[in-house]
Parts: sequence; C-alpha cells; structure tokens
Amino acid sequence: KDYQGPLLQATGLTKRFGGVVANQGIDFTVNAGELRGIIGPNGAGKSTFFKMLTCEIPPTSGRIVFEGRDITGMDVTDVCQLGLTKSYQVNQLFNKLTVRQNVTIAALAELRGKFRLDLLRSPDKVPGLREQVEHTLALVHLTARADAPVAELAYGEKRRLEIGLALASSPSLLLLDEPLAGMSPSERVETVALLKTIAKGRTLVIIDHDMDALFELAERITVLQEGKLLVEGTPEEIKANTLVQEAYLGG
Ligand code: ADP
Ligand code: MG
Repeated sequence: KDYQGPLLQATGLTKRFGGVVANQGIDFTVNAGELRGIIGPNGAGKSTFFKMLTCEIPPTSGRIVFEGRDITGMDVTDVCQLGLTKSYQVNQLFNKLTVRQNVTIAALAELRGKFRLDLLRSPDKVPGLREQVEHTLALVHLTARADAPVAELAYGEKRRLEIGLALASSPSLLLLDEPLAGMSPSERVETVALLKTIAKGRTLVIIDHDMDALFELAERITVLQEGKLLVEGTPEEIKANTLVQEAYLGG
C-alpha cells in the first residue's frame, strides 16, 4: 500500500434521530498506530459516533474516509473486511457455541465474507484460520476457556471475548465501546493491561467514561459533550482544560 494519509478521517459527521441530535458536525482524524480515547457523559453521542464510523448506521450528513477510500454508506460487513471493526456486544455472542467457535465465526467473517457453517465444522479447510483463532484466544487470555460454551463464561471473560471477536478479523482499526464497563476493579486492571498489549502494532480507539483508565491508556483524547466535539488533546492537556474541568471534574 502506498497510501500515506490518515488511517481514518471523518468530517462533519451529524446524526439525528427524529428531534434528537446525537452527533453534530464532528471532525475526527486517526493516524495509523495511535491509541485514542473518547470520553463523554452518558448520552453524549459516543456510541452513535462509533456506529457511524463502522457504517452500522448511516450519518444524516458528513463523510467517512478510511485508508483514503470514502466508505460513507457502505455495508458494515464490507467495512469490516476493509479492516475497520467495532467490538461486538455480549448479547451478540452465540451462547450455546464454545468460545473457540465464536472466535472462529468472527475470523471467518473477515476471511470469507459470509459465515459458512461447514467451515466452522472443518476449520482446516481455510488456510491460516486455526492459527489466527488460537492466536486471538491467547491474546485475550481465553485459551484455557476455549472449549467452554459462552453461556458458562464469567462476566469479565465475556467482555474479553468481545474484544477477541473484534480482533479475530485482524482489523487495522479497532473501535472498542466501553470495554471496561461493569468490570470489578481487578478485572479492570487486567483488561487495561490487555488493551495495552493489544495496542502494540495496532490502531485503537477506545470509548470509556472512566477517565482515569483512559488517561492511563490513550495518547490522545477526544471529549464529546451533547453530541459535539468539546476538545481534543493529550491526557495532560485534557486534565488541564478549563471546559473539561467544569464539565467533568467538578470545576
Ligand atoms: P453515549 O454512547 O455517549 O451514551 P449514544 O450515542 O448512545 O450516547 O446516544 C446519544 C443520544 O442519541 C441519546 O440522547 C440517545 O437517546 C440518542 N439515541 C441513540 N440511539 C438512538 C436511536 N436508535 N434512536 C433514537 N435515539 C437514539
Ligand atoms: Mg454508549
């Protein structure tokens, strides 16, 4: 690839749900290799923003360019195959299938476009599939739980599997929506360490409302408030910003 521009460039992204303006004129650029954070209170429009970036929902207006290609309005599976993926939600896991089978399905989504049940039964038919699945399981520390049905996983393990499913498609840009949500303090510490490992050699954008975790993880942070981009900067700049202090840190 000889493309040298930003990995992702969103311009003027706006989303209206009836009378609700969930996102308004957001400009957002991600360079390859960055570890970015997005913070903002509940309802600020963070999840909506991610859904637009991966083309899960169309923007009311604005454009999304990924690796120099305009992906606005593309199909979400095509966007995934291009290398832009968002974390799945727990409720999208196949509960009766094993952890390994779930990761295999996610890996196949990238390798073959459409999931094929026969390939799940004979993964060796797809070159590199087994290695990719085992590597992903190891990355999210689920190798020991690979044969367990998803229904038997503890909450923290399910959340790690979510990250694993997104990683299984080997994305060049991975968006994680609140990967630390609902975790116990110890699960949180473990997952922050996991995210740091995953970030090596990858480009990540992580949403969280836990500012401390995000300040520790991200190199650059974008603050959303009431659907608009309030400010962007390094953790130090964000902590020192008067607008942010007023809005989130109690002045
Ligand atoms: P956040 O992730 O920051 O908590 P969201 O992006 O989920 O915020 O939501 C932003 C706003 O858009 C909220 O007011 C929410 O109620 C509204 N919203 C989100 N999705 C929908 C939808 N599908 N239909 C109607 N309103 C929505
Ligand atoms: Mg959200």
